[in-house]
Amino acid sequence: MSIAQSIVELAEEVAIKEQAGPIQSIDIEIGALSGVVLEALEFAMEISVKNTKLEKAKINYRVLPGKARCRECNREFETNDLLALCPGCKQANYTITDGKQLRIKSLVV
Ligand SMILES: [Zn+2]
Repeated sequence: MSIAQSIVELAEEVAIKEQAGPIQSIDIEIGALSGVVLEALEFAMEISVKNTKLEKAKINYRVLPGKARCRECNREFETNDLLALCPGCKQANYTITDGKQLRIKSLVV
């Protein structure tokens, strides 16, 4: 819920800074490894946008795959699971390089 609220607050701040009216649409990117469940966020957003500049906005969600680089064999691979093993060497010694983000990609006012 607090994540949805901060998205709404951030979007409103931008709209106010731009001296814009209601927000038409907003694109939100969710990394598959961000720990955010899309359905839960959608539900929380529905509630959080009430009486804000986002109330009538079309909200587009985009889930981005997680990426990791193996420290053993240097292989880069996609994973949507923090407990996955490297497909190359079956080790779990890797660095997450992408997929932890949760951000507003764009905003149309
Ligand atoms: Zn590996």
